[in-house]
Amino acid sequence: MIIALDGPAASGKGTLARRLARHMGLPHLDSGLLYRATAQALIEQGCDLADSAAAVKAARGLALTDFDEAALRGRDMAEAASVVAAIPEVRTALIDLQRGFAARPGGAVLDGRDIGTVICPEASPKIFVTASVEARAMRRALELKGRGEAVDYACVLEDIRKRDERDSSRAVAPLKVAADAFVLDTTKLDVEAAFEAALAIVNS
Ligand code: C5P
Repeated sequence: MIIALDGPAASGKGTLARRLARHMGLPHLDSGLLYRATAQALIEQGCDLADSAAAVKAARGLALTDFDEAALRGRDMAEAASVVAAIPEVRTALIDLQRGFAARPGGAVLDGRDIGTVICPEASPKIFVTASVEARAMRRALELKGRGEAVDYACVLEDIRKRDERDSSRAVAPLKVAADAFVLDTTKLDVEAAFEAALAIVNS
């Protein structure tokens, strides 16, 4: 069973994916970490984020055990990730790693932007997790505050709008709802209610 959760930034897909995976005893891949780690490698090497050859090399060098999540989850890395994620060759370089993860015996839960549309078109179910941009900005602001990154709501809202625009308008694998996806709007749902709704989709 491959469960695909896609959706815009801070829609709650990561939390839902983690909970579903735990509940079902399946491994979970947060594919956003791959783009964040690629961006981090470029920054560490002093390369430009638009340097596609260096970005592809960094992407190819990733191993799933490498991630320092605390460093990758920050605001700067989210922005940098969406820049490298728009480079078609970077996306291609990361396909096999994601498909390999999805092919684990027993299945897997993957979350991202293009899991149901590009990486695992065969996934079932596909859940497109969304929420209003204001609700998402509020959640991200609280999350960043919890990490000790004090940023005001207006800045986070602006960041998320910019990232939505970049992720939805890029030429390759833009963020969009797969034709056979269930849309789950979490604007008015707390974590528990969103999990129950996702589980009902998985069990349907
Ligand atoms: O999900 P997360 O916010 O960690 O993703 C960071 C960025 O990585 C996104 O804004 C998006 O540009 C990119 N991404 C992507 N495809 C994925 C996962 C993330 O393009 N499957």
